[in-house]
Amino acid sequence: MSICETNKCTGCMACYNSCPKNCITMEYDDNGTLLPKINENICIRL
Ligand code: SF4
Repeated sequence: MSICETNKCTGCMACYNSCPKNCITMEYDDNGTLLPKINENICIRL
């Protein structure tokens, strides 16, 4: 699952800051781009 399409993510952290279960972490990919990662074991929207 992704929140915005990866190539459109600006790293704004709005998803990170608004998740009621705090299941999103921000991690750098291999290109050094900060992207959200969802813990699918905690997410209540999956
Ligand atoms: S950080 Fe989250 S809310 Fe912000 S652009 Fe990326 S996926 Fe969308």
